[in-house]
Amino acid sequence: MVEMVQYYLPLGMRYSTLEERKQFYASEFNLQAVAEWFGNWQAKVRFAVIIGRHTKIYPEKYKEDASITIVIDEYSNLEDLRQEILEFLPEAVYYDRNVYDESGAKAGQELAFDLDPENIVCPIHGTLADKMKRYQGLSFCELELQMVKQETVGLYEFLANHFDALRVVYSGRGFHVHVLDPQAYRLGTQERLKLAQQVKKEGFHIDEWVTTGEMRLIRLPYSLNGLVSRLVLPLSKDDLQSFDPIRDERALPGFLGRKATF
Ligand SMILES: [Zn+2]
Repeated sequence: MVEMVQYYLPLGMRYSTLEERKQFYASEFNLQAVAEWFGNWQAKVRFAVIIGRHTKIYPEKYKEDASITIVIDEYSNLEDLRQEILEFLPEAVYYDRNVYDESGAKAGQELAFDLDPENIVCPIHGTLADKMKRYQGLSFCELELQMVKQETVGLYEFLANHFDALRVVYSGRGFHVHVLDPQAYRLGTQERLKLAQQVKKEGFHIDEWVTTGEMRLIRLPYSLNGLVSRLVLPLSKDDLQSFDPIRDERALPGFLGRKATF
């Protein structure tokens, strides 16, 4: 028996087409802003793309590689990165939070927290287990997005007791909190695990794999989240409280145009 699965997203959110990805990376992708994001990095950043793992939308010639993670580390400047992205037209662009020394050995890792809406217990859609049972693990609704935003505000305030240089990024689905304090890069696996468990005990629904570092890739700020057609957008703490994840114009790619009027 074939089950019909409906993938639901908040109003106006949808997959981006290949043509739209191309349009975005050719004319809107803000390399200056990307450079500023990495302003304090001493080492070369490794980027990565996934072409069509979730969306199943990919250039025909990359059919075989559509679901794998492709690392981009042979570039001489960010314009090269743009050209690589235009070649693959990926659904997602990431960077590696690991910092490597000249010999290529891991010298540290940026600490980050990932809050996703599917982990929120929704009054309408239930728990993640409920959603998985209906094969809707990647679906989310506007209510969950608002709830995850409130959690992000709380997590920011909790982390501000321990760290100074916090950055919030809207991922197009949920939110990331990046910790840029120098001492946070040097935390060991056990310390990260302890911190992740502490944060979960406080009631925050984080993805532990991101904080402990096993999942070291994180969405590149200012890239396009091709699953929802939204920009990955850094936000100030003051911005966050009033931020509307569905309608905020700064997160709307140009190709949505008037279709993004709600
Ligand atoms: Zn829901």
